[in-house]
Amino acid sequence: MSFDFHAEPSQADDFIPGAAPAAAQADSGFEKLGLAPEILKSIRHAGYPAPTDVQARAVPVALTGADLLVSSQTGSGKTAAFVWPALQRILTARLDPAKKRAKGQPSGPRVLVLAPTRELALQVSRACTQYGYGVQGLRVAHVVGGVPYHAQLKALRSPLDVLIATPGRLLDLMNTGAAVLAQVELLVLDEADRMLDMGFIDDITTIAQALPTQRQTLMFSATFAGNVGGLARELTREPQRIAVDTHTDTHTQIEQRLHWADSLHHKHALLEQLLADRAVEQAVVFTSTQRDADELAWKLGEIGHSVAALHGGMPQGRRNRVLQGLRQRQLRVLVATDVAARGIDVPTISHVINYGLPMKAEDYVHRIGRTGRAGASGLAVTLVTKSDARLVADIEKLIKRSLERVVIEGFEQSAVAKPRPEQPPRGARKPQGQGKAQPKTQTPKSGKRTGRPQQHHTGSRHR
Ligand code: AMP
Repeated sequence: MSFDFHAEPSQADDFIPGAAPAAAQADSGFEKLGLAPEILKSIRHAGYPAPTDVQARAVPVALTGADLLVSSQTGSGKTAAFVWPALQRILTARLDPAKKRAKGQPSGPRVLVLAPTRELALQVSRACTQYGYGVQGLRVAHVVGGVPYHAQLKALRSPLDVLIATPGRLLDLMNTGAAVLAQVELLVLDEADRMLDMGFIDDITTIAQALPTQRQTLMFSATFAGNVGGLARELTREPQRIAVDTHTDTHTQIEQRLHWADSLHHKHALLEQLLADRAVEQAVVFTSTQRDADELAWKLGEIGHSVAALHGGMPQGRRNRVLQGLRQRQLRVLVATDVAARGIDVPTISHVINYGLPMKAEDYVHRIGRTGRAGASGLAVTLVTKSDARLVADIEKLIKRSLERVVIEGFEQSAVAKPRPEQPPRGARKPQGQGKAQPKTQTPKSGKRTGRPQQHHTGSRHR
């Protein structure tokens, strides 16, 4: 299904209107943001203890109606930082007699969110539903590529509050006259840098030209350098700039390691060993190509992992089912290409393993952001051969730190070209010059997910 309607958001049983659980007492910080009671209700319901940095800084400014350029890391709570002000705008418009909508007339969205991938668009749509919990009759739809048009056309014919779209599909729907954007008051560009990387610049410019000039624009992007800066200048007016953090200090809660391998065979052996660790609650293994993702998922499935592939070559329905399987923990391992890097928000992902390196160093940062969500700890492991040396240097330059080199006993370079040892190795040690070999499990910093390496996990194969 490509659209959601939330005509009557259901009230959860445990939610008592007006009551404020401990997490949302007056000193939680949410009250200071200036949000309407309906939105505070949903925040209480989400159980968040306090606003994140990006929320505390961006929400009050966004509520003034100013344009904003926000650079913040993925997993920082940035979605809420634009969804809350968007919902507030909808509530305010409802109280304005001048903006009253004629009954029975199709009325386009007041808020338009553009996102680079289907996965991210769906995630934003889910966030609107979640945070719109206290907003009576909120209507949210998303239009994304790769799925039939019928349901999307139906959604666009109905009155809408929020529309979330990938640029290509939205432009198609605008060209046929199905998408009417004359009432958009707020435009949000989520992960603008990624949209430009994907070649959407002309689509975005064309879409923006069709919007009212009297609007608010919020842009979220890892960087505002180069083309993104140019687009920002084109689309925003006297924007305020909020930089919550940069690549240099991102992901402090994620431990980042690197294993050198002699060959693909060696890499595969390392991967199997890493996944055999019980400390791996759920892992996303990244490959460079769709074909590698399919092949690797198949191989891991053959040895008993509950695993599936996720990449842009799969039909949308299947991609959704895979993500659902991951969220519901039916899958322990997801083998994905970069298309999945930005849209996955599953707090139980304890490990990210880079089996194939990304094309660009920036994507490394987005990949590893799939773990360590919302303050949890995580471990990101990168497996590399000699030919990757240059990209490793680029990554380390970008993040301004070097990845910790780790060697697993029995899986040293040159060791794996020989037949595999009978017994699984017991741990990992630091490379030369670190004194006595330290046993080391593949465990995130918190120590919560400790566990001994074990040979195999059982589980059905999801393909
Ligand atoms: P995002 O950066 O928008 O992808 O959000 C990352 C995760 O943070 C999501 O799972 C949100 O549910 C969660 N989150 C958002 N705001 C808060 C908050 N104030 N406190 C705790 N978690 C949050």
